[in-house]
Amino acid sequence: MEVEQVLHMKGGEGNTSYANNSLHPRTIIAMVKPTLEETIEAVYLSTLSPKCLKMADLGCAAGPNTQLVVSQVMDSVRKTCQKLEGYSQPPSLQVFLNDLPGNDFNALFRSLPGCGGNVMEELLGEGSNDFGSCFFAGVPGSFYGRLFPNDSLHFFYSSYALMWISKVPKGLVSEAGEALNKGNLCIAKTSPPEVHKAYFEQFQRDFTLFLKSRAEELVPGGGMVLTILGSLKSNDPLNVWEFIGLKLNDMVLEGSSCSSSPSRFRFLPPPHSFIAIALDLGGECFPFIIMCHLAPRLQCYLPRWRVSFS
Ligand code: SAH
Repeated sequence: MEVEQVLHMKGGEGNTSYANNSLHPRTIIAMVKPTLEETIEAVYLSTLSPKCLKMADLGCAAGPNTQLVVSQVMDSVRKTCQKLEGYSQPPSLQVFLNDLPGNDFNALFRSLPGCGGNVMEELLGEGSNDFGSCFFAGVPGSFYGRLFPNDSLHFFYSSYALMWISKVPKGLVSEAGEALNKGNLCIAKTSPPEVHKAYFEQFQRDFTLFLKSRAEELVPGGGMVLTILGSLKSNDPLNVWEFIGLKLNDMVLEGSSCSSSPSRFRFLPPPHSFIAIALDLGGECFPFIIMCHLAPRLQCYLPRWRVSFS
């Protein structure tokens, strides 16, 4: 089953919607702000102060978080321009909001400035007219493939989305047809090594395609900030997904739930794998990418890596 066909966060604005239940990813976006500021400044300078800065939030979902990202970018651009003598007028911003086609783009569009939403106004301060020079567009499709023309964007941001791999990995069933990861929805302490390998290889294929696609789409001197939830080591104590998996499995056995779950698409990569894949692609010539890696239970912000290819 392809993740693109089924995965989406809960839409709308109700109590159980993603929009109203995404506080944790929001705190992560806030934590990453200094990294974002640093990157925007570098991108602005290395792309020769563009008149219109084009960016995309990949895996934006529907809710206020993506607007927090955009307001932070606007703030960073403004600070950068203030720092640079003679460049007091910030560029306009074109923002592409990307997610899978099942995402509630209607709710997302309704929440934007000029379309009835006031999230950006609240974030940027009342009376601010900064978002007058900010233009939004929706881009449905998988980020594991091309989304934009060659050399067209200055900056990519993605938070909390890259741990969703594109499909349930092959190799989770033995030659005899037996499920190798029985009772689990994703990698768990009881998962045999073949299961770890299958998930890792799928992540490796997906992330490689992600980086290759972005390399084509970024203008020379462009950059990205990617934040991913990861694991520090494969034998971390029972994490929340393992626990949910066990509970769902009990429900399946009781007949009160069907067996398919999107959690099977999740893989939390250990830090070295994240960086190793990026380094393998050195020839693809990224000016720089900054990756933030978050451990699952502690939610700590590990030192980021800057990978410079020139
Ligand atoms: N960035 C948001 C949403 C995180 S939830 C935030 O920080 O709050 C992860 C989002 O990634 C979901 O909306 C999911 O639909 C999206 N996603 C997962 N796989 C994707 C893919 N291959 N292409 C585009 N979006 C994807």
